[in-house]
Amino acid sequence: MEDCLTLHGRSYRDGKPMEIEISGGLITSVKSTSKELPDDIFLGPGITDIQVNGYLGQDYNSLTEDILALGQISQELLKAGVTTHFPTLITNSPDQISKLIKQVVLLRKKDPTAFQSIAGLHIEGPFISSEDGPRGAHPREFVQAPDWSLFQSWIEESEDLIRMVTLSPEWEGSRAFIKKCVENGILVSIGHTNATHEQISEAVKAGARLSTHLGNGAHQLLARHPNYLWSQLAEEKLSATVIADGFHLPAEVIQVFKKVKGKNLLLVSDSTSLAGMPPGDYDLHIGGQVTLTSEGKLHMRSNPKTLAGSAMNLLQGVNFLLKHELATMSEAWEMASVRPMMLFNPDFDPFQPGQIADLILVRKLVDNQLKLVKTIKNGREVYSL
Ligand SMILES: [Zn+2]
Repeated sequence: MEDCLTLHGRSYRDGKPMEIEISGGLITSVKSTSKELPDDIFLGPGITDIQVNGYLGQDYNSLTEDILALGQISQELLKAGVTTHFPTLITNSPDQISKLIKQVVLLRKKDPTAFQSIAGLHIEGPFISSEDGPRGAHPREFVQAPDWSLFQSWIEESEDLIRMVTLSPEWEGSRAFIKKCVENGILVSIGHTNATHEQISEAVKAGARLSTHLGNGAHQLLARHPNYLWSQLAEEKLSATVIADGFHLPAEVIQVFKKVKGKNLLLVSDSTSLAGMPPGDYDLHIGGQVTLTSEGKLHMRSNPKTLAGSAMNLLQGVNFLLKHELATMSEAWEMASVRPMMLFNPDFDPFQPGQIADLILVRKLVDNQLKLVKTIKNGREVYSL
């Protein structure tokens, strides 16, 4: 028998009571309702996180004997309202990146939840800046110039699961590489960069459309102008992602980025395997020796000023925006759901009949924070408070 489900809640867009019917995993009807509904329960799209290195002790950047253990990332993210995510593989040796890609491909074949939750792979590096600062916590020894034939072999190994790449256009040959990516339907994002204004401008002309965690993966000290932050902010055709965990960017920086980028600003978590773990010292592939503080800040043990990814999930990022009044609820929600989806499907509408039913219900608490109540993935209830 087909799975049928009816959901009621206030629309995340305008707060009006609505009813969504679901059948066979898809939304079949969306209508307003005159039912009496609680004032604080809101219904909207599931969260999409296009930058997930790992979560709750599991790491996409490590090879594991127990491949199904990696599937826990999908399971645990569903419990945090994240219905779609992109495993993110960072700078590594070409051979290791190849093995890690194959690991995700195999995971999707063996684990139906991972198959549904993982909608793409994000390759962050190794074609980034080798400079301290812009390189962030990526290992310098594996940083290299863009190499299309190498990247093409990864695309094949990924069975076309690679949907985006983060690179720095400071390398010679970047323009041709970006064009090849665009021809192959791969989103090119600028990040971990020390590129000049001209190089950024050339990258955009070649088809780059996004900046990865703008304001991070950057020098501690930067010339006031020109610099790569102004260049990326000024570029109309670049959307940007930010990490809103309270450590990567001060609230006022997000506020300014939002004024500049408007609807083209979106959230990523950049979560590592330490997200959700107890504070302490850890050894990771990303950065090696790192420290997670009791406040949730994850930094290199050798230098507390160098962050090593984040320890939060994306719903916490949404709540950071709300706590600091950086966005309305519907805006903050869209920055973590509809906007990342629209990078890959400009017509994406989470309430469109025929759409896959990936939805969440949240309770809006008195302090304006959102608490997850239910997660619906492919039309099935997979989490309930
Ligand atoms: Zn990064």
